[in-house]
Amino acid sequence: MSKPVILAVDDDPQVLAAVRRDLRSHYRSDYEVIGAGSGAEALSAVRELKARGEALALTICDQRMPAMLGVEVLAECHALYPRARRVLLTAYSDVEAAVRAINEAHLDYYLSKPWHPPEERLYPVVDDLLDAWQAEHLPEKTGLRLVGHQWSPRSHAIKDFLAANLIGYRWLEFGRDNDARILLEAGAVPPEELPALFLEDGTVLRNPEFADVARVLGFSTSAAHDLYDLVVVGAGPAGLAAAVYGASEGLRTLILDGHAPGGQAGASTRIENYLGFPAGVSGSELTRRAVTQAKRLGAEVLSPVGVSSVSIDAGYKRLTLGDGREVVARALLAATGMVYRSHPAQGIPALTGAGVYYGTATTEAAACTGGRVLVVGGGNSAGQCAMYLSRFAREVDIAIRRDSLQPTMSQYLIEQIAAAPNIRLRASTVLERVDGNGRLERVTLNSSEGGAGTVEEMDAVFVFIGSRPQSDWLPAGVLRDEKGFVLTGRDLSVRSEFPRIWKEGREPLLLESSVPGLFAAGDVRAGAMNRVASAVGEGSTAVRLVHEFLAMT
Ligand SMILES: Cc1cc2nc3c(=O)[nH]c(=O)nc-3n(C[C@H](O)[C@H](O)[C@H](O)COP(=O)(O)OP(=O)(O)OC[C@H]3O[C@@H](n4cnc5c(N)ncnc54)[C@H](O)[C@@H]3O)c2cc1C
Repeated sequence: MSKPVILAVDDDPQVLAAVRRDLRSHYRSDYEVIGAGSGAEALSAVRELKARGEALALTICDQRMPAMLGVEVLAECHALYPRARRVLLTAYSDVEAAVRAINEAHLDYYLSKPWHPPEERLYPVVDDLLDAWQAEHLPEKTGLRLVGHQWSPRSHAIKDFLAANLIGYRWLEFGRDNDARILLEAGAVPPEELPALFLEDGTVLRNPEFADVARVLGFSTSAAHDLYDLVVVGAGPAGLAAAVYGASEGLRTLILDGHAPGGQAGASTRIENYLGFPAGVSGSELTRRAVTQAKRLGAEVLSPVGVSSVSIDAGYKRLTLGDGREVVARALLAATGMVYRSHPAQGIPALTGAGVYYGTATTEAAACTGGRVLVVGGGNSAGQCAMYLSRFAREVDIAIRRDSLQPTMSQYLIEQIAAAPNIRLRASTVLERVDGNGRLERVTLNSSEGGAGTVEEMDAVFVFIGSRPQSDWLPAGVLRDEKGFVLTGRDLSVRSEFPRIWKEGREPLLLESSVPGLFAAGDVRAGAMNRVASAVGEGSTAVRLVHEFLAMT
């Protein structure tokens, strides 16, 4: 197979020659760099690549071209190669237009001319974008393939697990894709043993558990040491930030996650408000960078490895893992975040994973193409999900109990939703019931004031209502509020049992719980701000406090 392609587009022959030269000198061993002198020429090259089944990794395109603007060229490239990265090349005076284009067309980056020296201004940007593309790219006929029934909760769980762990795979639907039939026949896999995972080396896993998938894909699930300075439980933004700081500051640091690194943020299709990413960043991309950074700095990252309980033994924290093994920590950080509450509507448990999904749109969005979907909830996560689904579904309805999105959603998302022609806000509306035979087919919606409900056909429901902390694994000595969020620092003193529990001759540190040396950061903590940035801030702050604690012991 030929090398993936980088396409440079500029109507000025001198600029085009310069950009091609700079790109070639740095990337020619892994990529083919081609050029086009106009939008039309670029699009015909992209169509040819598509027809030949070749991979387009990145397009870098001048904005001001006579017949076609750069953003228009990039939008058309996106339709043919949705995963290829897109960079707009602008003159300094066009920067405002470029920023607008990033928002409207969701481009990956803009680069203002001149880009010299390329070592500082061009290659770091392109390296990042190509790394991100490589992480998602799977050559057509190779790699991991998952065969299953579209409406099977087990298939959904495995898809979700692979996606959350940033493993590229090709989904083949039983009864629909010819390749699925060929693979099943070759592996002698009967339909009742689906979902089945086919590896490139010929290994076949039939209806596997997550642990089996993790094992064959070579995830690290065993700790290298028995004792750590810091064990971080939960690899969402708070935990990953703590792992980065802990490892970089010389602590022997282990981070564990029961599902996959990334946490809630990993499920986000586009985080637009995290500092330093002017074009927004997908949760999976942010996670990929953070995990790479934590490992590079020396943190040990284990996943999927859940912690089921913790006991305190002479000040040491003894963690029991999901499979019964143990690790011991001098200091422990609980960064286990939250999960969405189950929706109380009738019929939900039977159809969860078969048309009803919680907190994620990425794995099932393609299956919603041309369909009608309902998003339940009015927070930013629901808004992001609706925007993402509107690229696939014919109609996206958002059901909210309140009469407006204003109190619960950021203004930029409210505006995006109002401008999307296929999104409809259903204010003062509750989901009462879901029905279907083996998969979701209908929903019953009602006014939040009551009355008779209306039955409507629906292909999928994505639920984003209320959340609960994942704090059940913590010992009883860790005081929590009435909802289960972990109390830390000064918030502990309001609890009457605190003086009985806390026997240290000092106040608890800012993020310390009622157990000395056991800290909490991010969404699992009472009073958390429920933002990526605040979780990252707390995770990094916690490491500073861990140093203080270790110095006292
Ligand atoms: C769809 C969506 C979109 C969002 N968009 C934005 C946005 O645009 N901007 C923004 O600022 N915020 C956004 N948020 C909120 C933000 O993602 C959260 O505030 C943030 O992820 C909290 O980070 P955390 O590390 O505290 O916990 P989490 O992200 O919840 O991570 C907790 C981790 O702990 C693991 N875990 C739980 N229990 C155990 C256990 N017993 N053992 C081992 N591991 C365990 C989980 O598997 C999980 O990976 C969004 C949230 C969602 C769901």
